[in-house]
Amino acid sequence: MNNKDLYYKLFDLPGVAGGEHFVKDFVKSELEKYSDEIVMDKIGSVFGIKHGPKGSPVVMFAGHMDEVGAIVVGFKENGLIKMKSLGGMNGKVFSSQHMNVILEDGTKIPGITGTVPPHLKEAAKNADEFDDLLLDIGADNEDHAKELGIKIGDMIVPENRIVETIDGKKVISKAVDDRWGCGMVIELMKDIKDLDLNCTVVAGCTVQEEVGLRGAQTASQMINPDIFIALDASPCGDVIKSPQAWGKFGDGFLLRFLDRVAVMHKGMKKLFIETAKDNDIKYQYFYSAGGTDAGKAQLSHSGIAAATIGLPTRYIHSTTSMFHEDDHEAAKAIVRALVKKIDSNVLKEVHKNV
Ligand SMILES: [Zn+2]
Repeated sequence: MNNKDLYYKLFDLPGVAGGEHFVKDFVKSELEKYSDEIVMDKIGSVFGIKHGPKGSPVVMFAGHMDEVGAIVVGFKENGLIKMKSLGGMNGKVFSSQHMNVILEDGTKIPGITGTVPPHLKEAAKNADEFDDLLLDIGADNEDHAKELGIKIGDMIVPENRIVETIDGKKVISKAVDDRWGCGMVIELMKDIKDLDLNCTVVAGCTVQEEVGLRGAQTASQMINPDIFIALDASPCGDVIKSPQAWGKFGDGFLLRFLDRVAVMHKGMKKLFIETAKDNDIKYQYFYSAGGTDAGKAQLSHSGIAAATIGLPTRYIHSTTSMFHEDDHEAAKAIVRALVKKIDSNVLKEVHKNV
């Protein structure tokens, strides 16, 4: 994939809700290279601005920096670490996994979420809920774990290799949700740096999406855009037999017409569909039982025309996930077509259509 190094670096960085600082520092340093100006809210969200002509529409693009993971909440006498999940996670897929505790200075302390071997099955039951799992870092006892530098509140993230599948078309990694969106905004600012646009583009990343769309609330209030577009990895259901499963690899970006916190803005839906058709960009309708930052941003001030451009991603909110590069390219194409198209007249049309 293009700019592979940028995306792989983002996937690899650790950062759960409230612990996005390593990601934020990297995103900020990248955005600084391509933006006229950097703005931040006071909880860690960071955005770059490319100014358009005076009075032109302000279009905001946002990925979110937090990945699903956990936080240290205590120690057992035997040295095992008690954890609490940050973001919706299925405990069943988290047993017997490599996970790292990340110390304040970034040091990784490797560990595994233990399971009970079949030999001892009579003695204990494996956990179903994530918060029932314990992390074993090999500490001999509670004091030893503390001596190794671990503190309550440290974050815990899955440890996984990033790989490209054998056909070279899909990528497997942790944190695609939503470091993909972080890579998208950085690449966007880079690509449009020297273009003359008829809108102001504000592109960057929010914090704490996975625990309640919190950074979207503060960042959208701060910027008060005319249009808000979330760029987020969404659960692709093409490997599940369920009427609730939406999304198919290779069928394009996700047009999220409905989710738990948003019914897609009519004007935005028309804009997305027309722009996709005019530019031969593949898209697919998508329903989700979850939500994105767009759901929160739409409620800022007197309301903001907000929508999501989604990347179909299999197995999100687990230790690892997979996406198709063609869908990534479709999402990149619609974002670029939109920033080239949006001007005062387009905005008027969007706002009229509610
Ligand atoms: Zn997400």
